Amino acid sequence: MLNKLLFKSVLFMCAGVMLLLASNDKVFSQGVGLGAEAEATVEENIPREKALVVKYINADLDTIDKAFSQAAPLKLELQMQDRAFPNGGGSVSALEVRGVHNGSRIFFNFKWSDKTKNDRVIADHLFRDAVGLMFPLDIVTISPETPFSPRMGDRGKPVNIWHWKADWEREMDSECGFEHMEDQYPDMFTDFDFHTHPLHFHDQELHSIPLISGGRAAGNMLSQPNKGTTVEDLNAIGFSTLTTQDHQDVQGKGKWENSGWNVTMYRDLITADTNDVQFIPGVETFFNVAVWNGEEGDRNGQKSISTRWSPVKLETVKYDQ
Ligand code: CA
Ligand code: CA
Repeated sequence: MLNKLLFKSVLFMCAGVMLLLASNDKVFSQGVGLGAEAEATVEENIPREKALVVKYINADLDTIDKAFSQAAPLKLELQMQDRAFPNGGGSVSALEVRGVHNGSRIFFNFKWSDKTKNDRVIADHLFRDAVGLMFPLDIVTISPETPFSPRMGDRGKPVNIWHWKADWEREMDSECGFEHMEDQYPDMFTDFDFHTHPLHFHDQELHSIPLISGGRAAGNMLSQPNKGTTVEDLNAIGFSTLTTQDHQDVQGKGKWENSGWNVTMYRDLITADTNDVQFIPGVETFFNVAVWNGEEGDRNGQKSISTRWSPVKLETVKYDQ
C-alpha cells in the first residue's frame, strides 16, 4: 500500500515538472511565489485595443434602457476558465456590454445568450446564472512589462468585483426576502414543516437569530434576507481571496427575455469606500467579465471569462445637453 502511494506521488511530481517545462514559454515568469501574476500569459497582459466608451447621457434608471440604445456596444469573446482548479465553464461564448454615465452615476449593461433561466439555488443540484464585472482598484498601466493579472488580481494589485446573481433578483420579490423549500418541492411533507410557508409561520424562531442561524448572527451578507441589492460588491487579490465588502454600493436589475439575459449594474461614480474603484470622467481604467450558466453546472471558478483586459473610457460631462 505504502509503495503504491509512493509510486503515485513520484508519478504526480514527474507529471507536474513536465507540465511546467512544457508551458514555460507561455507563462509570464517573474520568479517563484508571485501568485496569480505568474500564471498570466504575456498575451493576457496586453489589453484589447478597442475600448468600451462610457457615453455621457443625462439619463437615470427610469430612462436608462433608451440611453443604452444610444451607446455603442463592445462585443467580448469568452472562454472557459482553464487555470485555477476546479476549472470549467465555456458554454457562454460571447457577451455584449454597454456603458453610460450621467455625471454622478455609472451604468453598465450586459446581454448574452442563455436558453435557460437559472434563478433558483434552493436545491443541491441547482446553480445560478450570473455575471461578474472586475476592475483594478487603482488607476494602473497594464502591459507585459507592467503586468496585472486578469484572473482576479494579485497580491499588492487588488481588484473590485461586482457580481450580479439571478437568484438574488428572484429573491427580491419573494416572501421574507428568500424562497421557501416548498417553492422548489410543492408536494413535500415533513413532520415539522406542516405549514405551507414555514419561514413565515416560524417567524419568532426565525428572528431568534443566535439560536438557528450562525451566518445571520455573524452578519454574513449571504445569509441575510432582504439584501436590498442583486449585486454583491467584492474585492480580491488573486485566486481564492474573494471577499464580500462591508460597504455594499452596487445595485442591479436583470431580466431574462428572448433566450438571453439583459442585466444592468449601476453605482455612483465616486463612493466613500476606499475598497471601491472610483470613476472619473475623462480618465481610463480597465475591466474584465465572467459569466456563469447554472444549467451547465457553472459555479465559482467554473465560468466563461474574458481573459484580456478591455480599456474603459468615460466621456467627459457635456453641459450643453
Ligand atoms: Ca442559464
Ligand atoms: Ca463598496
